[in-house]
Parts: sequence; structure tokens; C-alpha cells
Amino acid sequence: MEKEKINLLIVDDEEQFLASISKSLKLRDFNVIAVNRGEKAIEAAKKKSIDIALVDLKMPGMSGEETLKLLKQEHKWMEVVILTGHGAIDSAVECTKSGAYSYLQKPCELNSLLSALQDAYKKKVMNKKKIEEKKMNELLNISLSSSPREILRKLREMDQGD
Ligand SMILES: [Mg+2]
Repeated sequence: MEKEKINLLIVDDEEQFLASISKSLKLRDFNVIAVNRGEKAIEAAKKKSIDIALVDLKMPGMSGEETLKLLKQEHKWMEVVILTGHGAIDSAVECTKSGAYSYLQKPCELNSLLSALQDAYKKKVMNKKKIEEKKMNELLNISLSSSPREILRKLREMDQGD
């Protein structure tokens, strides 16, 4: 997996849509992992470090909402964008309350999709940086005031948060 590309997980049960959207995004330098079930998305995210997930709301088996919740629970830096068909806007809005970054209505223009993905990625990077900065400050304070043993204990504590 190339580091300079954004790792994008796409989950949608409509195979044709999945194939065409994956192709378009691969051409735009995304590293795409495409799956057709929520269950498979959870598995894929365990194997590879995903930056953003694009999740269809209506799927057989595990729903998009359930997939979103599990992904966010297990990967706190991952941002999720929900895809929804007509008539499911209310559920999509609910998803943003459960931690989705945003939602898009299908069929969506490639440009709106790209800008949603870019924004979601920006959010991910900013959140991570903020936390890292906070950790650096904590670390600095610990180092000034504690015994070496205490420093190690606190470092381990901080390390376990991720
Ligand atoms: Mg669907």
C-alpha cells in the first residue's frame, strides 16, 4: 500500500456502482478497497489502516449504520462518509449523530464525492494532530515534574489510548 495515497474503504451492495466508483477514485489516486457487505468492511479495516470509509446505508446483512458504529468504535481516527439513496435522508442525518463525518445522496457527482472525501480526510488529519500536540504537552509536563519511573508509567498510559 502506497503511503502517499489516501486509503479508502468503499462498502456498497450495488456491485456496478461499487465497481464504477472504485475505478474513478483509483484514477484519482485513492488506494481503494471495495467490499459489498458491512461485515467484510469490518474485516478489511482490521487488516489495513483505513483513512476514510464510504459506507452505503442500505445493505443486506449488517446495515450501513451498524457498519459505521463498529468502524468508529474500532478505529477512532477513521472518518466515515455515508451514501444514501432517495428517501433515506433522515437516517443519513441520524448517522452524522452516530459519528459519520457527512453524507451524500446517490447518485452523486464525482466532484461532490471528491470534495466530501477530501474534507473528511482533512478532519482526520487535524484531529490526529491535535491529539498528538496535546500528548506532547503532557509529556513535556510529566518530564519536568516526575521521577523516571513515573514518566515511564505515564507514557505507557498514554500509549494505550490509541
Ligand atoms: Mg445499498
